Amino acid sequence: MRPAKPAGAAALRREPKVTGRMPGLGLTFRLVRLGADLLLPPACNFCGAELPSLAESPLFCSACRQAFQALPVAVCRRCAAPVPADHREDDCPRCRNRRYQFQAAVALGVYQGALREAVIRMKQSAQEPLTLSMGYLLADRVREVLAASLPDLLVPIPAYWLKRVWRGVNSPDLLVETMARRLRLPSANDLIRCRRRTQKQGTLLPSERAANVRDAFAFNSDYDIVGSHVLLVDDIMTTGSTASEAARTLRRAGVARVTVAVVARGVGLAQRQL
Ligand SMILES: [Zn+2]
Ligand SMILES: [Zn+2]
Repeated sequence: MRPAKPAGAAALRREPKVTGRMPGLGLTFRLVRLGADLLLPPACNFCGAELPSLAESPLFCSACRQAFQALPVAVCRRCAAPVPADHREDDCPRCRNRRYQFQAAVALGVYQGALREAVIRMKQSAQEPLTLSMGYLLADRVREVLAASLPDLLVPIPAYWLKRVWRGVNSPDLLVETMARRLRLPSANDLIRCRRRTQKQGTLLPSERAANVRDAFAFNSDYDIVGSHVLLVDDIMTTGSTASEAARTLRRAGVARVTVAVVARGVGLAQRQL
C-alpha cells in the first residue's frame, strides 16, 4: 500500500472548496440572520435556553451538550455500534459479515433520544445553526478517537441534486463546514457527487440497500487524492451501505484509507438511512 500523503491541501491538485453553502440566497440569509443574532442574547441551538453573552460555539447549553455526548459504554471501532464493555475484537456482530469499504467509523452517539430528534431537525433548512453547532461536537469526537491519525481531507456524503434543491439544505455539507474549521483540515464538497436518484434507504430491506446505492456516486477527476486518508461525513449511518458505496468510489480513485464520521449511529431496522 502506498504511504499516505502528508496532511493538508498538498495532497490535492487544486484548492478544495471549503464551504458548502447554499447557492443564491444563502449568503443574504446568513447576513440577515447575523444582524438578528447581534441583537439577541445567544441561545442553545437545540432547546433555546439562554446562554451567557460570551458563549462560544458550539452554542449548546450544558444539559443538551451532555445529552448529545452521552456515549455507550463501548463502541465497535469498525462500525461505531455499541458493544459490551468487555468487547475486545476489532469488529462486532453487526459488521462482521459486511464488506465495508471504509476501515473505521466514528459517531457522536446512538440514534435515540435527543440525538435522534436533533438529526431529524437537521434536515430542515431553518435548523442550520443546530447542524453547524453539531459539527463542532462531531469534530471534537473525531479528534478524540483518531488522535494522531487525523484524515487529510473532509468530504460530505452527497445527496442527489434534486433532493438538495427540494430541501434547501444538505446537513453533511454544513457539518463539514464547521468540522473543517475546528480540525483545521481542508474539505472538498465536490470530490464525489450523487449521479442518480436513489430510493430512501429506510424504505428498503437491509439486503436491498447495497443494490439501491450501487454506482450512485461519481468521482471528480480534477482532484488527485491518491494515497490519502479521507473522512466521509454524514448525519446518520444505519446499515452502512451508503457510506460503504461512497468509500468504494474513493478507494477506486486511489484513496488509501476511509473513515466515516456520523452524528448518530442507527442500530434498529426501522430507522432511516439517507
Ligand atoms: Zn439546550
Ligand atoms: Zn461493528
